[in-house]
Amino acid sequence: MPIRTIIEPFRIKSVEPIRWTTREQREELLREAHYNLFLLPADDVVIDLLTDSGTGAMSVHQWAAIMEGDESYAGSRSFDRFRDSIQNITGYKHVIPTHQGRAAERILFGVACKKGDVVPNNTHFDTTRANIEFLGAEAVDLLIPEGRQPALHHPFKGNMDVAALESLIARVGRERIPLVMLTVTNNSGGGQPVSMENVRQVSAVCRHHGIPLYFDACRFAENAWFIRLREEGYALKSPKEIAQEMFGYGDGCTMSAKKDGMANIGGFLCTNNDLLAQQEKDLLILTEGYPTYGGLAGRDLEAIAVGIQEALHEDYLRYRIASTAYLGNHIAAAGVPIVQPPGGHAIYLDARSFLPHISPEQFPGVALAAELYLEGGVRSVEIGSLMFAAAAQMDLVRLAIPRRVYTQSHIDYVVEVILEVFRRRDQIKGMRLTYEAPFLRHFTAHLQPIA
Ligand SMILES: *Cc1c(COP(=O)(O)O)cnc(C)c1O
Repeated sequence: MPIRTIIEPFRIKSVEPIRWTTREQREELLREAHYNLFLLPADDVVIDLLTDSGTGAMSVHQWAAIMEGDESYAGSRSFDRFRDSIQNITGYKHVIPTHQGRAAERILFGVACKKGDVVPNNTHFDTTRANIEFLGAEAVDLLIPEGRQPALHHPFKGNMDVAALESLIARVGRERIPLVMLTVTNNSGGGQPVSMENVRQVSAVCRHHGIPLYFDACRFAENAWFIRLREEGYALKSPKEIAQEMFGYGDGCTMSAKKDGMANIGGFLCTNNDLLAQQEKDLLILTEGYPTYGGLAGRDLEAIAVGIQEALHEDYLRYRIASTAYLGNHIAAAGVPIVQPPGGHAIYLDARSFLPHISPEQFPGVALAAELYLEGGVRSVEIGSLMFAAAAQMDLVRLAIPRRVYTQSHIDYVVEVILEVFRRRDQIKGMRLTYEAPFLRHFTAHLQPIA
């Protein structure tokens, strides 16, 4: 029999100790954090699944490249490597480094978008939506209806509803739509992939109306792997070939290198439009830094140049997608409601089904995330009524898996914690807000359990 077990395709060279806390300590810590897991000290977390953003482990090749960092203010050799590596994958003409993804968004929308505009996306990520709304424009989510039903199985639940895009363009007019975005994979919609066929269709609609198509490319490599696994005609293509084809249907992208860039910080903005690139670089100099470093150190550019290629390695992607599914499949088999099928970077618990006795106004996702912390020190994040207020279509709790960080026994522990909370779910109470900021309120909100 051939050996079937998929193993972590790396050895561990450097380790970080995990600090244990008791349940009593966690009760106190949670009160002090106002039941918002963002406000917890990370040292008091046992397994941190808050985000896969910037939390990955770098490879020996990345650490070696870091020593090669050229910290010259202008014309750094590290920028050349960074640009070449990104162009090798995306093919885009202009590559603009930024300190992270949202800086790329702010610059792109700051240049391309004005008050009264409308920006369609399959699902806007929280920072993307906030950057658009901050300019007085409207962020519209056009996900296919299947993508909004957590329990439903569909191979590409991140797809955009192409008919809805056409009717939006007809309704508001092409002039009010500065660009269309596709988020790959669809983070806020469950880490679900977008098919190449959907990319092609959205691209055709955009080209027909002369509207640029941009990718929110944070997890482009994971998306490419799903295309290879699930879409006809791609089984024999390499993840890089798939990514190259996808980027070819667009005009540019925004990227957080903290995701499939495999780095701890960084991002970039790409475009084929010369005029836009010039304006973007002007804005970059104002707020981020000179265009050959964009708010990053030369060594960060090196780490990204290497990391973005490693994210496309087949043995890495096979392990990455299989290990995320391992968590999802184990809890789903015990009846825990999750967004199906498991996504690329995270498992999303469906808090409305998990806690049917808590209404969305009482933040079932926040209540569930608090319980997972109390039970086992597991930190997750709510993606629902606290994050998106009335725009929330689901109440999810995301368990994001940092890249190359946790082993299978860590995940077995997380499974046990979730199943224990599931067993006593009837006793969990809803939450109420006691403080909120005017935008992106979930990062700093204070909450309290309803007695
Ligand atoms: C993380 C993320 C961003 C923003 O990137 P940051 O590096 O956190 O600023 C934008 N879009 C998506 C889909 C993301 O996952």
